[in-house]
Parts: sequence; C-alpha cells; structure tokens
Amino acid sequence: KSFKESGLRDFLLTNVEKSGYTKPTPIQKHAIPIILAKRDLMGCAQTGSGKTAAFVLPILDAIMTNNETMSIGQPQCLIVAPTRELVIQIFDEARKFALSSWVKISLAYGGTSSQHQSDRISKGCHVLVATPGRLMDFVNKGVISFESLKFLVLDEADRMLDMGFKDTIHSILNHETLTKDNVQVLMFSATFPEAIQRLAGQYLKNYLFLTV
Ligand code: AMP
Repeated sequence: KSFKESGLRDFLLTNVEKSGYTKPTPIQKHAIPIILAKRDLMGCAQTGSGKTAAFVLPILDAIMTNNETMSIGQPQCLIVAPTRELVIQIFDEARKFALSSWVKISLAYGGTSSQHQSDRISKGCHVLVATPGRLMDFVNKGVISFESLKFLVLDEADRMLDMGFKDTIHSILNHETLTKDNVQVLMFSATFPEAIQRLAGQYLKNYLFLTV
C-alpha cells in the first residue's frame, strides 16, 4: 500500500515525497484512514514507528479541508507531548508537511521564556505542539483557548503519566470544549497499562484501538 492510497490530498503527498518517505509504515497505513474518517483512536506505537506522521498528516489534511477562519489564540489542533525534545521533533515533522501551505504551526515548552512563544502564537496558530505544563500556563494566562479545537493528540501518554502530568492531562481532557463531542481525540502510547486503558475508556468516544 502506498501513501497515494491513504486518501491524503496531493499537496501533502508531494510534501511526503519531498521528505523522502516512499512507503507508509504500518501505523501510518492503518491510522491515516481512521483519522481521516474522523474516528477517535488509541494507538500503541513506539518512537521510530512513524507515529508522528501518522497523526500529523491526516490532521493537516482536515485543517486544509475545513479552511476555517483562524481566530488568534484558538488553535484547531493541540498536540501534547511529554518533553521539549519530543515537542520540537513533532513541530519539525509537522512544519515539513505543511511547507508552502497557509497552515501555521507553533510550539510551547517550559524551561525557557514564554514571551517569544506567546508572541508567535499570537501571530496565528492552527496547530500548537506543547508540553503539558507550558500549555496549561498559556491556557490560564489566556494566551490560548480551546474554543476552535477540532483535534487533541496526546503523544507518549504513558510517559506523561509517569512524569507526573496526570492531573494536567485530566484537566485538559475535562475541558468543557472537549466534552461537547466535537473534538477528535487521538492518544498514542508505547505501553498500554491499566492507567492508559482507563484514560482511553474515560475520554475517547467509540474509539478504535490500533497496535503495531
Ligand atoms: P516517529 O516514530 O514518528 O518518531 O518517526 C521515526 C523516524 O522515522 C523519523 O525520523 C521519521 O522522519 C521517520 N519516518 C517516519 N515515517 C517514515 C516513512 N514512511 N518512511 C521513511 N521514514 C519515515
């Protein structure tokens, strides 16, 4: 199966090709059509499986299809990941695929001044990639809101729980916008312990489970 059969628009297929990806990895082959079909997804996949492109590509496709007017400080997609390194990795991958499009991507992580990050967000941001702490900091300060949110991705969810972000994750998932059913939630985890199963059961709607 090729990327062409995945249902992604030609614009993205061109950028995928430019990235040097010739063949989708198993998680990409299976997750891309599921996400394009607007289903919630719990994916068990390790780093190195190609999981980043598996969620970034269909989300970019949907944002391009929706072509909604952007409101400042209201990202349409939020990707939450445990560390600064992972946030930067996801950001780089997303930017590569969004290259030469109007989709704007920003990042937010702690341990550094927030001014530059919030300035960038205020210039327009469709997709925000963030660590849990800095994300909630920006929500509490009103830098961002969840009002226009269509996608929430929790990447390396098991690691976020291990790192003590449990309460933060719950407060993100409990946000009123998310309980209105109009947000597609995608969760990725390398392992599937009980805590992750519970999280998925509690917050994902009629979701598909994928393990690679
Ligand atoms: P990830 O699991 O998302 O962290 O990706 C692991 C690495 O595989 C990254 O360096 C990606 O750039 C690369 N990669 C992802 N998908 C593909 C693909 N279909 N073909 C070749 N390399 C890929």
